[in-house]
Amino acid sequence: MRVDNYKKRNEDICPGCELSELEIDFREAGTRFRLFPQSPLLTDYQEPETVWVSIAPWEIGPGPSDDRMYVVDAIDKDYYDGPRLPPYNGAINPPAIAGPDGHFDHLEIGTHEFEAAHMYGTLRFVLDIWETYFGHEIEWSFSDTFEQMELVPWVDWDNAHAGYGFIEMGYGKDDEGHKFPYNLNFDVLAHEFGHQLLYSVIGMPTDDTATPQFFAFHETASDIVAIISLLHFNSVIDRLLEQSSGNLYSRNELNRVGEESNTRQIRMASNDIKMKNVPDPDTPLDQLTIKQLHDMSLPFTGALFDLFVEIFQQKLLEKELIDPELDELSRGLTEKMDNEQQVQEAFDSAYEANPLGFKQALVDARDYTGLLLSLSWEQLSWNLTFPQIVQSLFNADQELSDGQYSVEIAEVFDWREIEY
Ligand SMILES: [Zn+2]
Repeated sequence: MRVDNYKKRNEDICPGCELSELEIDFREAGTRFRLFPQSPLLTDYQEPETVWVSIAPWEIGPGPSDDRMYVVDAIDKDYYDGPRLPPYNGAINPPAIAGPDGHFDHLEIGTHEFEAAHMYGTLRFVLDIWETYFGHEIEWSFSDTFEQMELVPWVDWDNAHAGYGFIEMGYGKDDEGHKFPYNLNFDVLAHEFGHQLLYSVIGMPTDDTATPQFFAFHETASDIVAIISLLHFNSVIDRLLEQSSGNLYSRNELNRVGEESNTRQIRMASNDIKMKNVPDPDTPLDQLTIKQLHDMSLPFTGALFDLFVEIFQQKLLEKELIDPELDELSRGLTEKMDNEQQVQEAFDSAYEANPLGFKQALVDARDYTGLLLSLSWEQLSWNLTFPQIVQSLFNADQELSDGQYSVEIAEVFDWREIEY
């Protein structure tokens, strides 16, 4: 169904329209929240953007809560560890309550209620996006035990995690070293949702059957979930294009995942790390640290980010928004940095000539990548291997477009020395 929708949309794409057929637009029937697309510690993101989530105001209760998830704003709670699982039954702050019109965009920034609504609104927004790509409801991996996912906006912990039946948020630090809640950091929230999505789609190994590939894949997939989701904010797309003129090979806001402040970010999605720079994925799990598992995910994250950029650039070429010469020149950038300024100037004039065309190409590339990933992940199981992940992408591309991007898929994984 979603594949048909995609093909249909490609045929009669409207050059002037900003919303594609897959655009997630619940303005008619949904509920309003105000979300920070990136950490509000960043100079450009101090104002939240209003978004609509899919469900109607009367379907969202205090917390906020609905049939899929609920916020419990715990006081002095330790993070879940080992056998301890939801539900949390200790002391709580008063729940966030909708305004008289049923929406949650009236809450004041800086209150517990705003943070609770920000966590819920973000996760619901990201769930809507990925259920649209998957074309069906995502059944939680823990649905045998819990009907809803518990969301804990604050635990006094310098981390965040997703586990069996819950997502909970600790804190990062600002430039002065002060604690800043991750419940206001879209990337961190969306990344943790990515883990929950993956548990649901590919299943979960037991402690003795888990492999390094499984953990590394989880980190990659969760970062990419965050990046694709971020591109559903109109303000992010506009700012990204304004700042880069569509030259996404340059260092930009999109490829810094989990940016916490003006100077700190968690990972660079755009990196030049190859498999030879990270631990061997066949190393036994008990000989690897968490940091090494994260490192192992970087070539894969880099490859998928590059693939998204390649798809975008192909779309710019197809629509004749850039010429083949610029395409060629910009690809060589990682090797020949002296061309950097020339490439940027060429992008600047191409973008200036047709900003709306660039925006449409970016939205198309985003949705193609989202569909590609959802089709790919549906083929995988928790006992996946790196070559299987790459093969599943070739299969998904075949299904979506008769293999339109098979050359690009091969190129990005070859460059990273990821075998398939
Ligand atoms: Zn993670």
